[in-house]
Amino acid sequence: MSCSIKGIGVSPGLAMGKVLVYKEASLEYDDKRLSLEEVAGEKRRLVKAFTESRRQLMEIKERVARTIGSEEAAVFEAHIMILDDPDLAVKINTKIEKEKKSAPAAVDETFHEYINLFAALDDDYMKERSADIADVQQRLLANLLGVELNPLESLEEKVIVVAADLPPSATALLDREQVLGFVTEAGGRTSHTAIMACSMEIPAVVGATGITDAVSPRERILVDGEKGEVIVNPGEQEETLFRERLAIYQERMKKLALLRDLPAESKDGCLVLLKANIGSSFDIAAARKYGACGVGLFRTEFLFMGRKEKPSEEEQFAAYREVAASFGDAPVIIRTLDIGGDKNLPYLDFPAELNPFLGWRAIRFCLDRHALFITQLKAILRAANYGNVKIMYPMISGLEDLRAANDILDRAKTELREEGVPFNETAGVGIMIEIPSAALIADRLAREVDFFSIGTNDLIQYTLAVDRMNEKVSRYYQPFHPAVLRLIRLTVEGAAKAGIPVGVCGEMAGDPAATELLLGLGIRELSMSAPSIPRVKEKVRQLCCRECENLVEEKIG
Ligand code: PEP
Ligand code: MG
Repeated sequence: MSCSIKGIGVSPGLAMGKVLVYKEASLEYDDKRLSLEEVAGEKRRLVKAFTESRRQLMEIKERVARTIGSEEAAVFEAHIMILDDPDLAVKINTKIEKEKKSAPAAVDETFHEYINLFAALDDDYMKERSADIADVQQRLLANLLGVELNPLESLEEKVIVVAADLPPSATALLDREQVLGFVTEAGGRTSHTAIMACSMEIPAVVGATGITDAVSPRERILVDGEKGEVIVNPGEQEETLFRERLAIYQERMKKLALLRDLPAESKDGCLVLLKANIGSSFDIAAARKYGACGVGLFRTEFLFMGRKEKPSEEEQFAAYREVAASFGDAPVIIRTLDIGGDKNLPYLDFPAELNPFLGWRAIRFCLDRHALFITQLKAILRAANYGNVKIMYPMISGLEDLRAANDILDRAKTELREEGVPFNETAGVGIMIEIPSAALIADRLAREVDFFSIGTNDLIQYTLAVDRMNEKVSRYYQPFHPAVLRLIRLTVEGAAKAGIPVGVCGEMAGDPAATELLLGLGIRELSMSAPSIPRVKEKVRQLCCRECENLVEEKIG
Protein backbone atom coordinates (compact mmCIF):
# COMPACT_ATOMS: atom_id res chain seq x y z
CA MET A 1 0.00 0.00 0.00
CA SER A 2 1.32 3.39 -0.88
CA CYS A 3 1.13 6.23 1.63
CA SER A 4 1.97 9.90 1.43
CA ILE A 5 3.51 12.10 4.09
CA LYS A 6 3.73 15.87 4.08
CA GLY A 7 6.76 17.68 5.41
CA ILE A 8 8.61 20.88 4.67
CA GLY A 9 10.29 21.03 1.25
CA VAL A 10 13.71 22.56 1.87
CA SER A 11 15.73 21.72 -1.21
CA PRO A 12 13.95 21.69 -4.58
CA GLY A 13 14.09 18.82 -7.00
CA LEU A 14 12.41 15.46 -7.46
CA ALA A 15 13.98 12.17 -6.44
CA MET A 16 12.84 8.58 -6.74
CA GLY A 17 14.69 5.55 -5.44
CA LYS A 18 15.25 3.00 -2.70
CA VAL A 19 15.11 3.85 1.00
CA LEU A 20 18.14 3.68 3.24
CA VAL A 21 17.16 4.10 6.87
CA TYR A 22 19.87 5.95 8.76
CA LYS A 23 20.34 5.49 12.49
CA GLU A 24 23.22 6.64 14.60
CA ALA A 25 25.23 3.53 15.44
CA SER A 26 24.56 2.04 18.88
CA LEU A 27 27.63 0.38 20.37
CA GLU A 28 25.92 -1.20 23.36
CA TYR A 29 26.75 -4.82 24.21
CA ASP A 30 25.97 -7.50 26.74
CA ASP A 31 28.69 -7.46 29.41
CA LYS A 32 28.46 -11.13 30.47
CA ARG A 33 31.29 -13.35 31.75
CA LEU A 34 32.44 -15.97 29.24
CA SER A 35 32.43 -19.68 29.88
CA LEU A 36 35.71 -21.53 29.21
CA GLU A 37 34.32 -22.95 25.94
CA GLU A 38 33.41 -19.49 24.63
CA VAL A 39 36.95 -18.06 24.96
CA ALA A 40 38.36 -19.40 21.67
CA GLY A 41 35.34 -18.17 19.68
CA GLU A 42 35.62 -14.72 21.25
CA LYS A 43 39.30 -14.50 20.32
CA ARG A 44 38.49 -15.41 16.73
CA ARG A 45 35.82 -12.69 16.72
CA LEU A 46 38.46 -10.23 17.88
CA VAL A 47 40.89 -11.20 15.10
CA LYS A 48 38.15 -10.72 12.52
CA ALA A 49 37.29 -7.28 13.93
CA PHE A 50 40.98 -6.25 13.83
CA THR A 51 41.30 -7.41 10.22
CA GLU A 52 38.11 -5.65 9.14
CA SER A 53 39.03 -2.42 10.95
CA ARG A 54 42.44 -2.42 9.29
CA ARG A 55 40.88 -2.99 5.87
CA GLN A 56 38.41 -0.12 6.39
CA LEU A 57 41.11 2.25 7.60
CA MET A 58 43.34 1.48 4.61
CA GLU A 59 40.44 2.13 2.27
CA ILE A 60 39.46 5.41 3.98
CA LYS A 61 43.09 6.53 4.04
CA GLU A 62 43.44 5.97 0.29
CA ARG A 63 40.12 7.64 -0.48
CA VAL A 64 40.88 10.69 1.66
CA ALA A 65 44.36 11.00 0.12
CA ARG A 66 42.75 10.92 -3.32
CA THR A 67 39.82 13.24 -2.67
CA ILE A 68 40.95 15.60 0.11
CA GLY A 69 44.71 15.51 0.67
CA SER A 70 47.64 13.68 2.17
CA GLU A 71 47.64 15.70 5.42
CA GLU A 72 44.07 14.57 6.19
CA ALA A 73 44.92 11.00 5.16
CA ALA A 74 47.73 10.92 7.73
CA VAL A 75 45.10 10.84 10.50
CA PHE A 76 44.02 7.43 9.28
CA GLU A 77 47.61 6.23 9.01
CA ALA A 78 47.91 7.08 12.71
CA HIS A 79 44.78 5.02 13.39
CA ILE A 80 46.30 2.03 11.61
CA MET A 81 49.44 2.37 13.73
CA ILE A 82 47.34 2.30 16.90
CA LEU A 83 45.63 -0.84 15.67
CA ASP A 84 48.97 -2.45 14.77
CA ASP A 85 50.47 -1.88 18.23
CA PRO A 86 51.26 -5.49 19.34
CA ASP A 87 50.74 -4.63 23.03
CA LEU A 88 47.17 -3.66 22.34
CA ALA A 89 46.08 -7.06 20.99
CA VAL A 90 47.98 -8.86 23.78
CA LYS A 91 46.24 -6.81 26.48
CA ILE A 92 42.77 -7.38 24.99
CA ASN A 93 43.41 -11.12 24.55
CA THR A 94 44.59 -11.41 28.15
CA LYS A 95 41.33 -9.91 29.40
CA ILE A 96 39.36 -12.40 27.31
CA GLU A 97 41.44 -15.40 28.42
CA LYS A 98 42.17 -14.61 32.05
CA GLU A 99 39.24 -12.44 33.11
CA LYS A 100 36.69 -14.12 30.82
CA LYS A 101 35.57 -10.76 29.45
CA SER A 102 33.63 -10.67 26.22
CA ALA A 103 35.58 -9.20 23.29
CA PRO A 104 33.67 -5.85 23.30
CA ALA A 105 34.15 -5.49 27.08
CA ALA A 106 37.86 -6.34 26.78
CA VAL A 107 38.28 -3.80 23.96
CA ASP A 108 36.41 -1.13 25.92
CA GLU A 109 38.44 -1.61 29.10
CA THR A 110 41.83 -1.78 27.37
CA PHE A 111 41.16 1.35 25.33
CA HIS A 112 39.94 3.23 28.40
CA GLU A 113 43.24 2.44 30.12
CA TYR A 114 45.13 3.86 27.11
CA ILE A 115 42.90 6.93 26.85
CA ASN A 116 43.29 7.75 30.55
CA LEU A 117 47.04 7.37 30.26
CA PHE A 118 47.25 9.79 27.33
CA ALA A 119 44.76 12.28 28.77
CA ALA A 120 46.82 12.54 31.98
CA LEU A 121 49.99 13.53 30.10
CA ASP A 122 51.06 17.15 30.34
CA ASP A 123 51.39 17.58 26.61
CA ASP A 124 48.63 18.97 24.40
CA TYR A 125 49.71 16.95 21.38
CA MET A 126 49.57 13.68 23.31
CA LYS A 127 46.26 14.67 24.92
CA GLU A 128 44.77 15.19 21.50
CA ARG A 129 45.97 11.72 20.47
CA SER A 130 43.48 10.28 22.96
CA ALA A 131 40.74 11.37 20.50
CA ASP A 132 42.37 9.16 17.84
CA ILE A 133 42.53 6.22 20.22
CA ALA A 134 38.84 6.66 21.06
CA ASP A 135 38.11 6.64 17.36
CA VAL A 136 39.88 3.33 16.81
CA GLN A 137 38.04 1.93 19.82
CA GLN A 138 34.69 2.86 18.23
CA ARG A 139 35.66 1.25 14.96
CA LEU A 140 36.78 -2.00 16.61
CA LEU A 141 33.62 -2.14 18.71
CA ALA A 142 31.43 -1.46 15.69
CA ASN A 143 33.10 -4.30 13.80
CA LEU A 144 32.76 -6.66 16.76
CA LEU A 145 29.07 -5.83 16.99
CA GLY A 146 28.48 -5.87 13.24
CA VAL A 147 27.35 -2.22 13.22
CA GLU A 148 28.24 0.28 10.47
CA LEU A 149 29.84 3.44 11.87
CA ASN A 150 29.25 6.02 9.16
CA PRO A 151 26.86 4.35 6.75
CA LEU A 152 26.37 7.48 4.65
CA GLU A 153 30.03 8.10 3.94
CA SER A 154 30.50 5.62 1.17
CA LEU A 155 27.53 3.94 -0.41
CA GLU A 156 27.44 1.18 -2.95
CA GLU A 157 24.20 2.15 -4.65
CA LYS A 158 21.93 5.14 -5.14
CA VAL A 159 19.55 5.67 -2.22
CA ILE A 160 17.17 8.10 -0.57
CA VAL A 161 18.14 8.53 3.07
CA VAL A 162 15.35 8.49 5.65
CA ALA A 163 16.18 9.41 9.24
CA ALA A 164 14.66 10.70 12.45
CA ASP A 165 17.34 13.38 12.34
CA LEU A 166 20.43 13.97 10.29
CA PRO A 167 22.95 16.17 12.08
CA PRO A 168 24.96 18.63 9.96
CA SER A 169 28.12 16.61 10.67
CA ALA A 170 26.59 13.48 9.07
CA THR A 171 25.24 15.55 6.18
CA ALA A 172 28.68 17.04 5.56
CA LEU A 173 30.12 13.54 5.12
CA LEU A 174 27.45 12.01 2.97
CA ASP A 175 28.27 10.48 -0.36
CA ARG A 176 27.11 13.14 -2.83
CA GLU A 177 27.21 10.76 -5.78
CA GLN A 178 24.92 8.14 -4.29
CA VAL A 179 22.43 10.07 -2.17
CA LEU A 180 19.51 11.03 -4.40
CA GLY A 181 17.52 12.76 -1.69
CA PHE A 182 16.70 12.71 1.98
CA VAL A 183 13.74 12.91 4.30
CA THR A 184 13.89 13.54 8.04
CA GLU A 185 11.34 13.78 10.83
CA ALA A 186 13.15 16.62 12.57
CA GLY A 187 14.28 19.97 11.29
CA GLY A 188 12.96 23.25 9.99
CA ARG A 189 13.37 25.22 6.78
CA THR A 190 16.55 26.89 7.96
CA SER A 191 18.20 24.05 9.89
CA HIS A 192 21.77 23.70 8.71
CA THR A 193 21.09 20.24 7.35
CA ALA A 194 18.42 21.76 5.10
CA ILE A 195 20.76 24.53 3.98
CA MET A 196 23.47 22.01 3.11
CA ALA A 197 21.03 19.88 1.11
CA CYS A 198 20.22 22.95 -0.95
CA SER A 199 23.86 23.69 -1.79
CA MET A 200 24.51 20.05 -2.56
CA GLU A 201 21.46 20.09 -4.87
CA ILE A 202 20.01 17.08 -3.10
CA PRO A 203 16.20 17.23 -2.98
CA ALA A 204 15.17 17.14 0.68
CA VAL A 205 12.12 17.19 2.91
CA VAL A 206 12.35 17.78 6.66
CA GLY A 207 9.70 17.77 9.38
CA ALA A 208 8.12 14.66 7.80
CA THR A 209 6.48 13.34 10.95
CA GLY A 210 6.01 9.56 10.93
CA ILE A 211 8.34 8.86 8.00
CA THR A 212 10.67 6.51 9.90
CA ASP A 213 7.74 4.27 10.90
CA ALA A 214 6.20 4.43 7.45
CA VAL A 215 9.19 3.06 5.50
CA SER A 216 11.03 -0.24 5.37
CA PRO A 217 14.62 -0.53 4.16
CA ARG A 218 14.94 -0.75 0.37
CA GLU A 219 11.30 0.21 -0.22
CA ARG A 220 10.67 2.63 -3.10
CA ILE A 221 9.98 6.24 -2.27
CA LEU A 222 9.28 9.48 -4.19
CA VAL A 223 10.42 12.83 -2.83
CA ASP A 224 9.35 16.29 -3.92
CA GLY A 225 11.82 18.66 -2.29
CA GLU A 226 9.87 21.76 -3.28
CA LYS A 227 6.36 20.84 -2.20
CA GLY A 228 7.56 18.77 0.75
CA GLU A 229 5.70 15.66 -0.42
CA VAL A 230 6.87 12.11 0.12
CA ILE A 231 5.19 9.02 -1.32
CA VAL A 232 6.19 5.70 0.18
CA ASN A 233 5.79 2.54 -1.86
CA PRO A 234 4.12 4.30 -4.83
CA GLY A 235 1.69 2.59 -7.15
CA GLU A 236 2.30 2.39 -10.89
CA GLN A 237 0.15 5.41 -11.63
CA GLU A 238 1.88 7.53 -9.00
CA GLU A 239 5.27 6.62 -10.45
CA THR A 240 4.13 7.54 -13.96
CA LEU A 241 2.80 10.91 -12.82
CA PHE A 242 6.00 11.56 -10.91
CA ARG A 243 8.11 10.78 -13.97
CA GLU A 244 6.07 13.28 -15.97
CA ARG A 245 6.64 15.94 -13.33
CA LEU A 246 10.34 15.11 -13.32
CA ALA A 247 10.50 15.70 -17.09
CA ILE A 248 8.71 19.08 -16.68
CA TYR A 249 11.08 20.02 -13.86
CA GLN A 250 14.11 19.20 -15.98
CA GLU A 251 12.75 21.31 -18.83
CA ARG A 252 12.27 24.24 -16.46
CA MET A 253 15.84 23.87 -15.19
CA LYS A 254 17.11 24.01 -18.77
CA LYS A 255 15.17 27.23 -19.38
CA LEU A 256 16.49 28.80 -16.20
CA ALA A 257 20.04 27.90 -17.20
CA LEU A 258 19.65 30.28 -20.18
CA LEU A 259 19.52 33.20 -17.73
CA ARG A 260 23.04 32.52 -16.50
CA ASP A 261 24.78 35.41 -18.24
CA LEU A 262 21.93 37.91 -18.17
CA PRO A 263 21.96 40.59 -15.47
CA ALA A 264 19.64 40.44 -12.47
CA GLU A 265 17.99 43.71 -13.41
CA SER A 266 14.44 44.74 -12.64
CA LYS A 267 12.15 46.15 -15.34
CA ASP A 268 12.82 49.68 -14.10
CA GLY A 269 16.58 49.23 -14.18
CA CYS A 270 17.54 48.34 -10.58
CA LEU A 271 20.58 46.06 -10.61
CA VAL A 272 20.65 43.36 -7.95
CA LEU A 273 23.81 41.49 -7.03
CA LEU A 274 23.19 37.77 -6.67
CA LYS A 275 25.93 35.99 -4.74
CA ALA A 276 26.50 32.47 -3.48
CA ASN A 277 26.48 31.07 0.04
CA ILE A 278 29.16 28.41 0.28
CA GLY A 279 30.37 25.96 2.92
CA SER A 280 33.63 24.83 1.37
CA SER A 281 35.62 24.90 -1.85
CA PHE A 282 33.31 22.08 -3.04
CA ASP A 283 30.66 24.74 -3.67
CA ILE A 284 32.82 26.91 -5.95
CA ALA A 285 31.80 24.91 -9.02
CA ALA A 286 28.07 25.42 -8.33
CA ALA A 287 28.61 29.15 -7.74
CA ARG A 288 30.25 29.37 -11.17
CA LYS A 289 27.68 27.21 -12.87
CA TYR A 290 24.83 29.44 -11.69
CA GLY A 291 26.63 32.72 -12.39
CA ALA A 292 27.11 34.03 -8.83
CA CYS A 293 28.86 37.40 -8.73
CA GLY A 294 30.88 36.61 -5.63
CA VAL A 295 30.40 34.91 -2.28
CA GLY A 296 28.07 36.68 0.14
CA LEU A 297 28.57 34.13 2.91
CA PHE A 298 31.28 31.53 3.39
CA ARG A 299 30.13 29.45 6.36
CA THR A 300 33.57 28.43 7.63
CA GLU A 301 32.25 26.13 10.35
CA PHE A 302 31.82 23.30 7.83
CA LEU A 303 35.59 23.23 7.53
CA PHE A 304 35.69 22.33 11.21
CA MET A 305 33.15 19.48 10.93
CA GLY A 306 33.47 15.77 10.25
CA ARG A 307 36.97 15.62 11.67
CA LYS A 308 38.74 14.79 14.88
CA GLU A 309 40.52 18.03 15.60
CA LYS A 310 40.37 21.65 14.56
CA PRO A 311 42.02 22.69 11.29
CA SER A 312 45.40 24.42 11.64
CA GLU A 313 46.09 27.99 10.45
CA GLU A 314 47.84 26.58 7.35
CA GLU A 315 44.93 24.34 6.49
CA GLN A 316 42.43 27.16 6.91
CA PHE A 317 44.63 29.54 4.94
CA ALA A 318 44.76 27.06 2.04
CA ALA A 319 40.98 26.66 2.05
CA TYR A 320 40.25 30.41 2.21
CA ARG A 321 42.90 31.23 -0.37
CA GLU A 322 41.44 28.70 -2.81
CA VAL A 323 38.02 30.35 -2.58
CA ALA A 324 39.40 33.91 -2.65
CA ALA A 325 41.58 33.24 -5.68
CA SER A 326 38.88 31.50 -7.64
CA PHE A 327 36.59 34.55 -7.52
CA GLY A 328 39.21 37.04 -8.75
CA ASP A 329 38.02 40.60 -8.07
CA ALA A 330 34.53 39.55 -7.01
CA PRO A 331 33.99 39.89 -3.26
CA VAL A 332 34.25 36.86 -0.98
CA ILE A 333 32.78 37.38 2.48
CA ILE A 334 34.30 34.93 4.93
CA ARG A 335 32.28 34.56 8.08
CA THR A 336 34.21 33.69 11.22
CA LEU A 337 33.35 30.50 13.04
CA ASP A 338 29.62 30.25 13.81
CA ILE A 339 29.58 27.14 15.92
CA GLY A 340 27.05 26.14 18.58
CA GLY A 341 23.27 26.06 18.12
CA ASP A 342 22.66 23.05 15.87
CA LYS A 343 26.33 22.85 14.88
CA ASN A 344 28.40 21.09 17.49
CA LEU A 345 31.97 19.88 17.35
CA PRO A 346 32.90 16.92 19.54
CA TYR A 347 36.50 18.07 19.98
CA LEU A 348 35.62 21.56 21.25
CA ASP A 349 34.05 20.40 24.53
CA PHE A 350 30.69 22.08 24.24
CA PRO A 351 28.69 21.88 27.44
CA ALA A 352 25.09 20.70 27.11
CA GLU A 353 22.96 23.85 27.19
CA LEU A 354 19.25 24.29 27.83
CA ASN A 355 18.95 26.84 25.01
CA PRO A 356 21.88 26.35 22.66
CA PHE A 357 20.57 28.92 20.14
CA LEU A 358 20.52 31.51 22.92
CA GLY A 359 23.74 30.30 24.40
CA TRP A 360 27.44 30.03 23.85
CA ARG A 361 27.35 30.39 20.09
CA ALA A 362 29.25 32.00 17.23
CA ILE A 363 31.08 35.23 18.20
CA ARG A 364 30.32 34.61 21.91
CA PHE A 365 32.23 31.36 21.75
CA CYS A 366 35.10 32.89 19.74
CA LEU A 367 35.45 35.83 22.11
CA ASP A 368 36.08 33.30 24.90
CA ARG A 369 38.42 31.13 22.83
CA HIS A 370 41.05 33.65 21.77
CA ALA A 371 43.58 31.15 20.43
CA LEU A 372 41.04 29.50 18.15
CA PHE A 373 39.69 32.86 16.96
CA ILE A 374 43.12 34.40 16.33
CA THR A 375 44.18 31.35 14.32
CA GLN A 376 41.17 31.74 12.08
CA LEU A 377 41.54 35.50 11.69
CA LYS A 378 45.21 35.11 10.75
CA ALA A 379 44.30 32.55 8.11
CA ILE A 380 41.63 34.87 6.66
CA LEU A 381 43.92 37.94 6.70
CA ARG A 382 46.58 35.97 4.84
CA ALA A 383 44.08 34.67 2.28
CA ALA A 384 42.89 38.26 1.76
CA ASN A 385 46.11 38.82 -0.21
CA TYR A 386 44.78 36.52 -2.92
CA GLY A 387 41.39 38.02 -3.69
CA ASN A 388 38.72 40.50 -2.63
CA VAL A 389 38.18 39.06 0.85
CA LYS A 390 36.04 40.63 3.56
CA ILE A 391 35.68 39.42 7.14
CA MET A 392 32.28 39.02 8.76
CA TYR A 393 31.39 38.36 12.41
CA PRO A 394 28.23 36.36 13.18
CA MET A 395 25.73 36.91 16.02
CA ILE A 396 26.77 40.44 16.94
CA SER A 397 24.30 41.73 19.51
CA GLY A 398 25.79 45.16 20.12
CA LEU A 399 28.80 47.46 20.00
CA GLU A 400 30.64 45.62 22.76
CA ASP A 401 30.81 42.38 20.79
CA LEU A 402 31.93 44.21 17.69
CA ARG A 403 34.69 46.14 19.45
CA ALA A 404 35.89 43.05 21.32
CA ALA A 405 36.09 41.12 18.04
CA ASN A 406 37.98 43.99 16.40
CA ASP A 407 40.48 44.03 19.28
CA ILE A 408 41.23 40.39 18.61
CA LEU A 409 41.51 41.13 14.90
CA ASP A 410 44.15 43.76 15.77
CA ARG A 411 46.02 41.17 17.81
CA ALA A 412 45.93 38.75 14.89
CA LYS A 413 47.43 41.47 12.67
CA THR A 414 50.15 42.23 15.24
CA GLU A 415 51.10 38.57 15.44
CA LEU A 416 51.34 38.29 11.66
CA ARG A 417 53.46 41.44 11.50
CA GLU A 418 55.80 40.08 14.17
CA GLU A 419 56.05 36.77 12.34
CA GLY A 420 56.81 38.62 9.09
CA VAL A 421 53.96 36.82 7.33
CA PRO A 422 52.34 38.80 4.48
CA PHE A 423 48.66 39.63 4.84
CA ASN A 424 46.10 42.22 3.75
CA GLU A 425 45.98 45.11 6.24
CA THR A 426 42.84 46.62 4.77
CA ALA A 427 40.41 43.73 4.34
CA GLY A 428 36.92 45.10 5.04
CA VAL A 429 35.08 44.05 8.19
CA GLY A 430 31.33 43.61 8.42
CA ILE A 431 28.76 42.00 10.66
CA MET A 432 25.72 39.82 10.36
CA ILE A 433 22.53 41.48 11.48
CA GLU A 434 20.66 38.49 12.84
CA ILE A 435 19.73 39.52 16.36
CA PRO A 436 16.91 42.06 16.82
CA SER A 437 19.08 44.19 19.15
CA ALA A 438 21.58 44.67 16.33
CA ALA A 439 18.87 45.65 13.85
CA LEU A 440 17.45 48.15 16.35
CA ILE A 441 20.81 49.91 16.73
CA ALA A 442 21.88 49.39 13.12
CA ASP A 443 22.54 53.13 12.71
CA ARG A 444 25.15 53.03 15.50
CA LEU A 445 26.75 49.77 14.38
CA ALA A 446 26.93 51.03 10.80
CA ARG A 447 29.38 53.77 11.82
CA GLU A 448 31.93 51.15 12.86
CA VAL A 449 31.76 48.55 10.09
CA ASP A 450 32.22 48.35 6.31
CA PHE A 451 29.05 46.39 5.52
CA PHE A 452 26.03 44.57 6.89
CA SER A 453 24.60 41.22 5.91
CA ILE A 454 21.17 40.35 7.25
CA GLY A 455 20.91 36.78 8.49
CA THR A 456 17.17 36.31 8.23
CA ASN A 457 17.30 32.70 9.44
CA ASP A 458 18.28 33.76 12.91
CA LEU A 459 16.62 37.17 12.75
CA ILE A 460 13.23 35.48 12.27
CA GLN A 461 13.99 32.93 14.98
CA TYR A 462 14.94 35.58 17.54
CA THR A 463 12.27 38.14 16.61
CA LEU A 464 9.38 35.71 16.75
CA ALA A 465 10.82 33.52 19.54
CA VAL A 466 10.54 30.45 17.32
CA ASP A 467 13.15 27.69 17.24
CA ARG A 468 14.24 27.41 13.58
CA MET A 469 14.88 23.68 14.08
CA ASN A 470 11.60 22.68 15.67
CA GLU A 471 9.04 21.39 13.18
CA LYS A 472 6.29 21.61 15.84
CA VAL A 473 6.38 25.40 15.82
CA SER A 474 7.18 25.86 12.14
CA ARG A 475 3.91 27.77 11.64
CA TYR A 476 5.31 30.54 13.83
CA TYR A 477 8.37 30.82 11.62
CA GLN A 478 7.07 33.65 9.43
CA PRO A 479 9.62 35.40 7.22
CA PHE A 480 6.97 37.94 6.14
CA HIS A 481 5.88 38.91 9.62
CA PRO A 482 5.68 42.75 9.78
CA ALA A 483 8.03 42.73 12.78
CA VAL A 484 10.73 40.99 10.75
CA LEU A 485 10.19 43.32 7.79
CA ARG A 486 10.41 46.39 10.02
CA LEU A 487 13.74 45.18 11.43
CA ILE A 488 15.05 44.69 7.91
CA ARG A 489 13.90 48.21 7.02
CA LEU A 490 15.64 49.66 10.09
CA THR A 491 18.83 47.88 9.10
CA VAL A 492 18.66 49.21 5.54
CA GLU A 493 18.04 52.74 6.87
CA GLY A 494 20.93 52.48 9.33
CA ALA A 495 23.26 51.30 6.59
CA ALA A 496 22.12 54.06 4.22
CA LYS A 497 22.82 56.80 6.79
CA ALA A 498 26.40 55.61 7.15
CA GLY A 499 26.73 54.91 3.43
CA ILE A 500 27.60 51.22 3.78
CA PRO A 501 26.20 48.37 1.68
CA VAL A 502 23.71 45.88 3.08
CA GLY A 503 22.80 42.45 1.75
CA VAL A 504 20.66 39.52 2.85
CA CYS A 505 22.26 36.09 3.22
CA GLY A 506 19.59 34.08 5.08
CA GLU A 507 17.34 31.61 3.24
CA MET A 508 14.87 34.41 2.44
CA ALA A 509 17.40 35.71 -0.08
CA GLY A 510 17.01 32.53 -2.16
CA ASP A 511 13.22 32.38 -1.98
CA PRO A 512 11.62 34.00 -5.05
CA ALA A 513 8.47 34.54 -2.98
CA ALA A 514 10.45 37.01 -0.84
CA THR A 515 12.21 38.87 -3.67
CA GLU A 516 9.48 41.45 -4.17
CA LEU A 517 9.46 42.52 -0.52
CA LEU A 518 13.24 42.53 -0.21
CA LEU A 519 13.63 44.76 -3.27
CA GLY A 520 10.87 46.99 -1.94
CA LEU A 521 12.76 47.31 1.34
CA GLY A 522 15.77 48.59 -0.59
CA ILE A 523 17.91 45.44 -0.62
CA ARG A 524 20.14 45.19 -3.70
CA GLU A 525 22.38 42.28 -2.69
CA LEU A 526 21.12 38.76 -2.14
CA SER A 527 23.28 35.79 -1.25
CA MET A 528 21.90 32.27 -1.44
CA SER A 529 22.78 28.67 -2.12
CA ALA A 530 23.94 28.82 -5.73
CA PRO A 531 21.23 26.58 -7.25
CA SER A 532 18.62 29.14 -6.11
CA ILE A 533 20.19 31.95 -8.16
CA PRO A 534 18.38 31.29 -11.50
CA ARG A 535 14.90 31.31 -9.91
CA VAL A 536 15.59 34.54 -8.03
CA LYS A 537 17.11 36.13 -11.14
CA GLU A 538 14.02 35.22 -13.13
CA LYS A 539 11.89 36.89 -10.46
CA VAL A 540 14.00 40.07 -10.28
CA ARG A 541 13.71 40.46 -14.06
CA GLN A 542 9.90 40.32 -13.83
CA LEU A 543 9.65 42.99 -11.11
CA CYS A 544 9.52 46.76 -10.99
CA CYS A 545 11.25 48.18 -7.89
CA ARG A 546 8.82 51.09 -7.51
CA GLU A 547 5.92 48.69 -7.35
CA CYS A 548 7.81 46.57 -4.83
CA GLU A 549 8.10 49.64 -2.58
CA ASN A 550 4.33 50.07 -2.71
CA LEU A 551 3.90 46.49 -1.59
CA VAL A 552 6.10 47.14 1.45
CA GLU A 553 4.00 50.19 2.31
CA GLU A 554 0.90 48.01 2.18
CA LYS A 555 2.44 45.30 4.36
CA ILE A 556 4.09 47.31 7.10
CA GLY A 557 3.07 50.92 6.59
C1 PEP B 1 21.25 33.40 9.14
O1 PEP B 1 21.11 33.29 10.36
O2 PEP B 1 20.39 33.89 8.38
C2 PEP B 1 22.49 32.97 8.49
C3 PEP B 1 22.74 33.21 7.23
O3 PEP B 1 23.37 32.26 9.25
P1 PEP B 1 23.19 30.73 9.66
O4 PEP B 1 22.03 30.17 8.87
O5 PEP B 1 24.46 30.03 9.34
O6 PEP B 1 22.90 30.80 11.12
MG1 MG C 1 22.78 32.87 11.63
